[in-house]
Amino acid sequence: MLSAIEIGTARSKPGEIVYGTFEAVPLPTGGADQLPVIIAQGKSEKGPVLWLTANIHGGEYDGVAVIHHLVKPELLTNLRGTVIALPTLNPAGLRVGQRAAYYLPDKDPNRLFPSLPSLNETDDSTPPSALEQSYERLFERIDATADYLIDLHDYGIRSIPFAFRDPVFYREPRDRTVAVKLQNIVGEMLDALGLTVVNEHSPQKYLKADLHRSVSGSALNRARIPAITIEIGGQRTLNVSHIKAVVIGIQNVMRWAGMLPGPAEPLPNIPVIRPGYPIRRTTHPRVPLACLIHHLVQPGDRLYAGDPVARLVDIYGRPVGKSDGFLRTDYDGFVIGLFPGLAFYPNDAIMGLAIRDDHELVLPVPQG
Ligand SMILES: [Zn+2]
Repeated sequence: MLSAIEIGTARSKPGEIVYGTFEAVPLPTGGADQLPVIIAQGKSEKGPVLWLTANIHGGEYDGVAVIHHLVKPELLTNLRGTVIALPTLNPAGLRVGQRAAYYLPDKDPNRLFPSLPSLNETDDSTPPSALEQSYERLFERIDATADYLIDLHDYGIRSIPFAFRDPVFYREPRDRTVAVKLQNIVGEMLDALGLTVVNEHSPQKYLKADLHRSVSGSALNRARIPAITIEIGGQRTLNVSHIKAVVIGIQNVMRWAGMLPGPAEPLPNIPVIRPGYPIRRTTHPRVPLACLIHHLVQPGDRLYAGDPVARLVDIYGRPVGKSDGFLRTDYDGFVIGLFPGLAFYPNDAIMGLAIRDDHELVLPVPQG
């Protein structure tokens, strides 16, 4: 018999769902923020261990709902292996509907997981915050137990559901084979998921933006666990049709991993972009001047360079700027989400555009 998996106070039991908590940030008023932990295990504990995490951005609720719909008693009937689900990684943010934790308001919590070992880590003179320390302890449990990890987010209220694919870095040439294999497994997971796949920023920008310290970036690049991020819907609201699609998509990943029986189930009617070549995220175009905007495109639309994407107007509704107020894209691409708002300042981006990606997805860590 395999030994039980313990995450905080939750201890796996074959054929059962158990609930517990993982002690996180100690609170000055007593007690601590606790991360809720659910462990669902098949009758035989043999099989892969899938981690599902959500709501590290406290205003992103759809992932919480996905876990609620997925990890319930019916799951046990045919489950092989173990699902470890944490419906929120940021209860302080969830309580107030904010992206960051209120006790660390200026830090993106999804950049606080352990860094790539070979990069210059954060300045030694700054001790880690309590939240960072909590994530480090949680990461140790992920590293020790996970075969796969899926982290759940929300991109925007008017966006398609999609998954981010991260680059895999390696340090020594001899590690390349392992890195290639890892990236291939990520590719298989994404195929099984069935959503649009959008590659993360270019490798330099990825590292500069500390995305290797996101939940999935850290699991992938530090712990070498196949890991992906799913962007479900919009912030501070629930998108029921996207939640349904993502639950089925994750069940299909579990079928691929041998954790559930049967063939893949088709996704319900959501837009899926399959251009036949890799695409990556950008924010484009940006407005050249202060204005109000009217979007002319929809999430999922295919665009060609030169297509108008918005009309820029003044407060009276009169077109402003060049070419009669029409703002055009410089690139071919696909609209992944429209940024909310009406009033924009110079150089504000108005939407997320996925464009053709020619970067390597497996590459050496930059030296120096
Ligand atoms: Zn997020």
